[in-house]
Amino acid sequence: MKLHEYQSRALLASYSVPVPKGEVTSDPEEAFRIAEAFGGKVVVKAQVLMGGRGKAGGIGLFEDARKASEFTAGLIGKRLVSPQNPIGMIVEKVLISEKVEIAEEYYIALLLDRTEQKDVLVLSARGGMDIEDIAVKEPEAIMKVPIDPKWGLWNYEIRHALKKAGINIKAHSQLVSLAENIYKMYREKDCTLIEINPCALTQDGKVVAVDAKVTIDDSALFRHPEFSRSEESAEDPIEAEAVRRGIAYVKLDGEIGVIGNGAGLVMLTLDEIAKTGKKAANFLDVGGGAQAERVRDCVELVLMDKGVKVLLINIFGGITRGDEVAKGVVQAIKELGVEIPIVARIEGTNAEEARAILSGAKITPARSVREAAEYAAKLVEAR
Ligand code: GDP
Ligand code: MN
Repeated sequence: MKLHEYQSRALLASYSVPVPKGEVTSDPEEAFRIAEAFGGKVVVKAQVLMGGRGKAGGIGLFEDARKASEFTAGLIGKRLVSPQNPIGMIVEKVLISEKVEIAEEYYIALLLDRTEQKDVLVLSARGGMDIEDIAVKEPEAIMKVPIDPKWGLWNYEIRHALKKAGINIKAHSQLVSLAENIYKMYREKDCTLIEINPCALTQDGKVVAVDAKVTIDDSALFRHPEFSRSEESAEDPIEAEAVRRGIAYVKLDGEIGVIGNGAGLVMLTLDEIAKTGKKAANFLDVGGGAQAERVRDCVELVLMDKGVKVLLINIFGGITRGDEVAKGVVQAIKELGVEIPIVARIEGTNAEEARAILSGAKITPARSVREAAEYAAKLVEAR
């Protein structure tokens, strides 16, 4: 689960990391009052869960509270699009933050490196908006310190990396404390990412976390009630709706909508779709023992994605009964006026009953997952 910048900042501050003062709002008049309290010298920052807001026009620097308020008015309700997020996200809130007088911009992050199979500390003297380019063109400008979970981060390792990264020596002691503090937070809060970019050195020699991105491991959320997954934390409107309905749904960018029971079966379905050269539009697991009503809700959810051209339903009934799934699908077709073709492969518990229920509807039956994927791919071609 990704946290918004303002949430990340509050969390960092609770671990003694210096962050600029700021307040969140969606009201331009309130933005004016907040900006005025900072003497008009503020940064207005769109609170959307995507990178590259600066380049997308989601960040504005001001010397005047009225201008900051006008910028807020223009930003609220606007869709921001960046290379990292071509679909874009609508701005609902902005953070009005006191402007930091930046002398230098560094990059500092802790993240789970799956190749190293370790957490790593990442440092660069070249922070700011082009870190992705630098990572590709000058990888040597980025220092990585793999962390042995037995010992944690050693003070000397951090100092060594800061020196090798060519970071201004004036900032070293402050950055060592910062790295130690974020590592504590990383472990205690079960983070998979803490990224501070830029981590600024101010004109008067102070280190400040100007931008922060924090991701919490979803599998650890049960022990962090303080981060209860909210609709607000979803990255996509359909994902937000899925959170509301309690459905396990991940949006992908293909044209075949997928509904299956069990994550393994859904993954297998995705693989079979990939073999046909087509792409799945989503990953949806109805869960065990789904009743007709839930299946109907799942179909409705997938169809909210206007990119879906064909729906593929793949059920292997165990606790889940095929006839319940079939009833849910038929209910969805009737109530929602589904227009796109549906391919269904239903095996296992009550599969015969399921087929009988579906035979009345306009559904292409398939005997195997592969056959279902091939039919779905052909139907995509035909549209
Ligand atoms: P991002 O584009 O989503 O990563 O948003 P950031 O918060 O990193 O802001 C983008 C850029 O705006 C930063 O790299 C800074 O150069 C600039 N910026 C952001 N906040 C401040 C600030 O308080 N003072 C100054 N001088 N520049 C800022
Ligand atoms: Mn940034």
